Amino acid sequence: MSPGSNLVIEPGATIGILGSGQLGRMLAMAARRLGYGVAVYSPEPNSPAGQLADQTTVAAYDDTTALEAFAQSVDVVTFEFENVNAEAVAVLSRFVAVRPGGAVLHTTQHRVREKTFLASIGVPTTPWRSVKSLDELNDALQTLGTPAVLKTAGFGYDGKGQRRIDEVAEAEVAFAALGSDDLILEAHVDFVRELSVVAARGQDGRFVAYPIVENRHRNHVLDLTLAPAPLSADRVTLARALARRILDALDVVGVLAVELFEGRDGRLLVNELAPRPHNSGHFTLDACDVDQFELQLRAVCGLPLLEPRQRCPAVMANLLGEDLLGSPDYAAVLASRDVRLHLYGKAVARPGRKMGHLTALGLTIEDALSKALTARDAIRRA
Ligand code: AMP
Repeated sequence: MSPGSNLVIEPGATIGILGSGQLGRMLAMAARRLGYGVAVYSPEPNSPAGQLADQTTVAAYDDTTALEAFAQSVDVVTFEFENVNAEAVAVLSRFVAVRPGGAVLHTTQHRVREKTFLASIGVPTTPWRSVKSLDELNDALQTLGTPAVLKTAGFGYDGKGQRRIDEVAEAEVAFAALGSDDLILEAHVDFVRELSVVAARGQDGRFVAYPIVENRHRNHVLDLTLAPAPLSADRVTLARALARRILDALDVVGVLAVELFEGRDGRLLVNELAPRPHNSGHFTLDACDVDQFELQLRAVCGLPLLEPRQRCPAVMANLLGEDLLGSPDYAAVLASRDVRLHLYGKAVARPGRKMGHLTALGLTIEDALSKALTARDAIRRA
């Protein structure tokens, strides 16, 4: 079934989710609230999403037999984890609608394909070169200059598989460190802010988006999201238009997040795409009338896509493993009416691991930021 065909999947049907982390968990919650059954597929037993599913298939993403059985047990398949190979999607698609479709995943799971696609539709990115050898890296450094960022082209996330190169002399060490011959070199962007647009598109091409947000990172992992970002009206219009062009050109059915850099010169450059709900959209659970997980569900099930409305300024703060060492003081957060706590049911708190998040609501963005930071400090200090 092509993603473009008009298919309404009514409550009562079963949603198949590939991947079983916190995004799948929150998608499963949205599905359950609307009366859908949930089936999760991933290699992880006792996963955040699996804890909420009616059925879990614990199998590798290339296990054709398990994928076939899974596809036959659900009414639609969607993703919370996009790094699934093309054959897996092809196997699933033989039995059930897969949304977004395999072509969206194919483009977005590889940085060179993604940036080639963005260039083809006139969406600006930082200058980049594909790199397959140390010689090509040296050539690319001559063209792009330093500083630059060397990244593995496939299967990277949260800053994993990337190295900043400040001097051409560092090329060999960086190339060896990444240990891959499928790389991309990007000119380093001197940005004022990182932004994202979480948007959705329906089977009928309808496009909706949340307010543009600002993302602040800690060690390459998202730390804080400020919603909405303090942006001029023309930047908001431009960011939204870029997102629309991307979702339309990819023929996305579902939610897709566009990560952007706002350059010092005011230009907006797309960094990367995530064809699913996104960490920077978690604030929508508490601050919007329709959250990003329900929006994903509505899109993949062919249900009405409402333009989401944000009720008040909000700041999302991630809770990483290092924030929850010892005995975290959750009560300190739960005592505050304006802060909502979300925990993902992960047993082991490793440094850098996303264990949960909190969202603070405020009268202004500064108010929400101060509440979010105070609440996170209260958890940590325990
Ligand atoms: P990515 O995995 O591409 O999202 O990169 C993770 C983070 O590294 C981004 O959110 C930025 O903070 C930083 N980063 C990645 N690429 C660049 C770049 N070309 N210039 C400046 N910072 C970058």
